[in-house]
Order: sequence, then structure tokens, then C-alpha cells
Amino acid sequence: MNITKEDILKELLITPSPSGSEHAIIKKVTNFLKDYVDEYSIDNNGNLIALKHGANRNKKLMLAAHADEVGLMVTYIDDNGFLFFQEIGGIDTNILPGQRVEIHNRHGVVTGIIGKKPIHLQKRDTKAKDYDAEDLWIDISAKDKEDAEKVVEIGDYITYQTQPLSLNQDFWTSKALDDKVGLLMLIELAKALDGKLPAMDVYFVATVQEELGARGVRTATLGINPDFGIAIDVTHATDYPTCSPQKSGEIKLGNGIVIAKGPNIDSVMGGMLIELAKQQNIRYQIEPIARPTGTDANSMQISGTGIKTALLSIPCRYMHSPNEIVSLLDVNEGVRLLAHFCDVELDN
Ligand SMILES: [Zn+2]
Repeated sequence: MNITKEDILKELLITPSPSGSEHAIIKKVTNFLKDYVDEYSIDNNGNLIALKHGANRNKKLMLAAHADEVGLMVTYIDDNGFLFFQEIGGIDTNILPGQRVEIHNRHGVVTGIIGKKPIHLQKRDTKAKDYDAEDLWIDISAKDKEDAEKVVEIGDYITYQTQPLSLNQDFWTSKALDDKVGLLMLIELAKALDGKLPAMDVYFVATVQEELGARGVRTATLGINPDFGIAIDVTHATDYPTCSPQKSGEIKLGNGIVIAKGPNIDSVMGGMLIELAKQQNIRYQIEPIARPTGTDANSMQISGTGIKTALLSIPCRYMHSPNEIVSLLDVNEGVRLLAHFCDVELDN
């Protein structure tokens, strides 16, 4: 099977996976990983846990990327057949008007439009309104409630309808690059380690429900009970207008994999990642995070009696929007760094 990383990424991106409905993406990731691992299973919450044995089978390294993406859920259908919704995960409601969305259920996929009054009909004082979900609706062009109910049910999951697109050079845009580039890193790493023996047992984990407060990783970490854990996610790039490097540090697309520093990070593991990057001429950037990170690394670190944890991130513009942007150069550097990290046996 000779499939490029771009093709794998596209396949992951077009597979809808709103938090709570990750079965399809978990199946895809399993298919991409299964030839490169010794065993795999799916836990009760739906996390994929795949294991590649290492030289020392008494030590475990857990690598986790989340499989879920932000989305919406149908909460109400009015008499005219318009749908109302709640957000799943952190969505800026103000970017929703005018978007196309897909409603998923056992009947298949229904396309809808998030409606808003055109500028001609708006009153001056409503133009700059800060929207709540209840101010907006989804128009599936149903004749009435009964007509809508033929194809949509309360509780259906909704995702943005955007297709992945390669932009200039190695830049890609799509919904859900958060965290499908993380899944891509896991898959590319497994391929890079094919035929090699890592220093320790390596667990490749695709977690569920990260966007709802890193829920899936809790049970995955308890189940595996690793000696060391690394979460792989996206982080905010600060290289576009109105972002503040003064507030968040300087993170640029295409400038390398991001290594986090802070209380959520084991200083020995973090230091070793930086040292390895320097030794191997891997491009990297440092992200200072002075609080628990909003990633799987947070739940992982405080699981059970505590897990030594690090965080690697891909810089991302416009996170949680229908058109995020990342650079695949940063993914490549992350895969190289993890491959070298897997050669090292760490002391507990
Ligand atoms: Zn994420």
C-alpha cells in the first residue's frame, strides 16, 4: 500500500468525527495503522489503542492524538422545518452565518445552510451583533416540520461542509485539521518505525471527546498506565494580523514542530525533546504555557498516580473554524522528532 501522506490526510479530513461520534474516523485510523503495530483494541469509550512492542517491554510510551472535531447538534425543528442547534466544543458562533453544514444520521447526509438576514433587511443596531446559537438556524429547504423530520432527527450530529485544499507550497486548509494532522503524525510515525525496534513499547492512541474537556484520554491513559505520555495536537499560530506574540509567544506556520514548556510538561521529557531536535537539526519552536494546557496532555499528566507528560503541537491558524490552515512541513518535523524519541529508553 503506497499512499502519500497528503492522501491519508485528505481521507481523515473528509471523515466526519464530531465529539461523541468518532466511530468512522477510528475505523479509518485503525486501517491506516494496523499493518504497522503488533496489536490493537478499542476501549469502551471508543479510543483506539494500538501497540508496537519495543526492546524493553516493561516500559510504555503513550502517544495520543485526538480523533474528534468540533461540530453542532440538532436540538429543535420548528413548524416551518428550520433546524436549531447547540455547539459541540468551542465554536465562535459569529463565524457560522452563511456556512454550509452537513447533518449526519442513519438516513445519510443532509446539506444545510446557516441562515441570516441579508444586509438590506438588517436594522443598523443588529449589524454588529454577537450571536448566540439560538439566534441562528439551519435551512435544509424543507417544506415544513414534517418534511424536515423525514431526513433529520433531534440529536443528529452536524459538521462544517468544507473540502480539504492545498494552498501555497506545503500549506493546507480544511475544517478539522485540529487534530487530524495529529492523527496523521501518529500514522506517519508508525510507518517510519516499520521494521525497527523502539526502545520501549509504543502505544499509538487516537482519543475521543478531547474537544469536550479531554474526556477520552482519561480512560485510555488509565487503561494503558504508561510510564511516559506525549499528546500531539495543534496550537495557535501567532503569525497573522491581530495575534499577539506578546501574549502567546511567537509561533509560525512552517517554522517547525512546537514543543511546549510549563507546569503540564515533565521538564526532563521536554528538555530531551528540545535536545534531540537540536542534535538532529529538526526545526522546532517553543510554546510557553503557564497553566494546564487545553489538550489531552492535561488529563494524561494527572491520570492515576501521575504520568510524565509532554506536548508536541502543529501551528494552526483559525482554529475551530471551517477553514483552518497548517503547514505539512511542521508535521514532517514532528514525525522525525518522535522517531528519534522512540530510540531513547528513558529513566522513570
Ligand atoms: Zn485539538
